[in-house]
Amino acid sequence: MQKLKFIFLFFSVLPFSLWAQELACYHKFTPKQIQNLQVFQQKLQVGHPINLQKTKQFVPLKVHIVGNSAGIGYYSISNLMLALCEINERFASVGFHFYLAEPVTYINDDALNRADFDAIYDVAYKAKVPGMVNVYFHNAGSAWCGVYFGDLDIVLVKNSCQMPMATTLAHELGHFFSLPHTFLGWEGGNTPASADIERLDGSNCRSAGDGFCDTKADYVSQRWSCPLPYTLTDPIGQIFKPDSSLYMNYASDNCHSRFSSEQILAMQNDLQSRRISKTSATTNALLPPQKITPLNLDSNVHTKNIVFKWNAVPNAFAYHLQIARFGNWSFLNIDRLVSDTFTQLDLFGNWPFAWRVKAISEGNTCSIFGSVDTFYTTNQQTYISEKTEAIQPKLFPNPIRNNEALNLTHLGQGTIHIYHAQGKLLYTVEATKSGSVSIDMQGWEQGVYFIEFVGSNQRFIQRFVIQEN
Ligand SMILES: [Zn+2]
Repeated sequence: MQKLKFIFLFFSVLPFSLWAQELACYHKFTPKQIQNLQVFQQKLQVGHPINLQKTKQFVPLKVHIVGNSAGIGYYSISNLMLALCEINERFASVGFHFYLAEPVTYINDDALNRADFDAIYDVAYKAKVPGMVNVYFHNAGSAWCGVYFGDLDIVLVKNSCQMPMATTLAHELGHFFSLPHTFLGWEGGNTPASADIERLDGSNCRSAGDGFCDTKADYVSQRWSCPLPYTLTDPIGQIFKPDSSLYMNYASDNCHSRFSSEQILAMQNDLQSRRISKTSATTNALLPPQKITPLNLDSNVHTKNIVFKWNAVPNAFAYHLQIARFGNWSFLNIDRLVSDTFTQLDLFGNWPFAWRVKAISEGNTCSIFGSVDTFYTTNQQTYISEKTEAIQPKLFPNPIRNNEALNLTHLGQGTIHIYHAQGKLLYTVEATKSGSVSIDMQGWEQGVYFIEFVGSNQRFIQRFVIQEN
């Protein structure tokens, strides 16, 4: 049995590792979708009048954030808000504006988090909300950055492929609205029959490649940096490099900036046939809410069930709440959407925290945060141990002069960290079983610091002050 397992593993993993660098996107259209696009492209070919809606279309979006079964690995709300801002800029020329039609939902599922195909057909499909564009962000697994399955009509994006300025989501939404790759026919390293290879002169542009005549011939089915470091040769000997600017090719994200005019018409045609869009939505930027609790500079906030509360903002779809220890916004303790005007949270004791909140409207996640408030958490149980008061760690002297040594006693084995009041980790030392540590403060600047001791069954945090000697 072990041997069988090993053989199975060998053959299932090997192809993935070989292809891992190449497979940016896995998509498949239904025969009906392919036919619809070809019919539309024929209309373009004969100059058939195309009757499309001229007004801006607001497209409903349903976001699913997938983590593993323990709820780890979620796409961050900060990245999601930014991704929505960016996607609306990228689709402005198309006349589409995506709006959050429903609250974001979370799915904890190991297999879906890996974008396992069975789980996509089962778990993701069950969670799909009809009548909107369903996008799933997942954390782990395969080589695919993006997935679009036409029969399910859902898009999956791997978190790491949709960081700020990335174009994976724009590319997959292109597939959602019927667009094939510019290098159609070359996927997976295939070479089409000579007649099906798009020529540079455009003479077979409607029947070869992606069927669009304003997207240049493209034969490259692996990710490439722009400009392409080598040249391509078409069936009649023309030498060229492909257009890197189109979202639907495999050039690096930073090369991408546009859809072609015909691609735009095809997407408008696809959206029109879906009948899911509307012609107005709340897109105005909202003013930040006025905060109520915790009070700014409150130095006695208990760590359990802290109530974060603010005044309602008219037309708010939700509120984006961020809380960061020391106000370091690069490392957020809390980063979430709240649909109400309050939420209750637990935080660590004896740390300075900063918090801020912004209101978002359904079609505008790009508003700015309001002012930052700070507070300090207290916790009687700073020292988490089953042992008695008698052995609680002690720190002295405090305040300390910077020609003295800082002493900690009654410790166990563990690690000591010293942080600057702004949150930067300055010093780390291991505490041994002896139970005491002495740290020379010679040369340290005056100011407020935090010392943290983490042992196997206790955690101790204390603020201390260094004065000039
Ligand atoms: Zn693709």
